[in-house]
Amino acid sequence: MATVHRIYNFSAGPAVLPLPVLQEVQRDLLALPGAGISILEISHRSKTFESILAQAEADIRALANIPPRYKVLFLQGGASLQFSMVPMNLLAPAATADYIDAGSWGEKAIKEAKKIGNVNIAASTRSDNYSRVPSQTELKLTPGAAYVHMTSNNTIEGTEHKDLPDVGDVPLVSDTSSDMFSKPIDVARHALIYAGAQKNMGPAGVTIVIVRDDLLQRSLERKSSLPTMLNYAVHAENKSLYNTPPAFAVYTLGLVMKWLLGLGGLPAIARANERKAAKLYAEIDRTGFYRGTARTDSRSLMNVTFRLPNEELENQFVKQSESAGLDGLKGHRSVGGMRASIYNAFPEDGVDALVGFMREFERTHG
Ligand SMILES: *Cc1c(COP(=O)(O)O)cnc(C)c1O
Repeated sequence: MATVHRIYNFSAGPAVLPLPVLQEVQRDLLALPGAGISILEISHRSKTFESILAQAEADIRALANIPPRYKVLFLQGGASLQFSMVPMNLLAPAATADYIDAGSWGEKAIKEAKKIGNVNIAASTRSDNYSRVPSQTELKLTPGAAYVHMTSNNTIEGTEHKDLPDVGDVPLVSDTSSDMFSKPIDVARHALIYAGAQKNMGPAGVTIVIVRDDLLQRSLERKSSLPTMLNYAVHAENKSLYNTPPAFAVYTLGLVMKWLLGLGGLPAIARANERKAAKLYAEIDRTGFYRGTARTDSRSLMNVTFRLPNEELENQFVKQSESAGLDGLKGHRSVGGMRASIYNAFPEDGVDALVGFMREFERTHG
């Protein structure tokens, strides 16, 4: 294969994909082995595609140890559509949903839920600039709430929940868009988990929803009023084939799942992710020139956010890092500063390259 120049892509999403997956996609793009037809052309009702979908689901189940009482759905509309689908399916008019407000994506989820029903903010770290996630003792949960919604990893602010909140018997719903399958996940403590694929699982276009069977009853009760395409029960009954699925995104996500299993599954990828993040945070903490924006006990392993002494230096840092082949380090426009997204597929070499760049930048500008 001809050598292709690839930069280090620190983008928060869409994000870096594993090279062996891209190579397999490239190799098989004209014709899937044995099928003589491209994944871009194939009927979603074909045996070939059905088995691609079934295999992707089986691999997701194996990776995350998903109990049989959960369905795995492949939907569209991104995590953003889940902000609406969750309350439309799960929040009855007289009920209240609790939301943990710990970042910009959670805020957006709250905004959509308020259009559907009653929302209680169980805790918020907004007044701390979302530099941390709330602790268990801060949570003011509603007895008998329809569900509790959380964001496991705050992509923009660079914080994560180190432990799941204890919500008793209330269904826990988690937006895991930016840390899904970066470490072991205790599915049984959740009622519903959702994630857009394009941060850590595959290309944009498919959203994974893992939902416990008993919650589908709520969707069934709303069958006549809910738009069909927004009803979890409809997608579950039709095994994610109610309408044309994003075949290419599902296929590529399936290859990423295979790649993860081949590496040793979630415990193995978690160790690699911890090692990468530790290197970067160690450099941030080394002298005080760089300043991590997340409180130490809430630091994300996926999105590492930091600032420099002033904005002028930050602009120079962005420019020079791009010239050095380190792309996508500019922080989200709403918070500024730097953000290095180091998802599963981001190579450790790239972290080493960034650490080297940071040292040199400090030496010449500090
Ligand atoms: C990126 C992101 C979203 C939005 O995802 P889309 O697929 O673009 O709708 C929602 N939540 C979190 C935590 C994210 O990182």
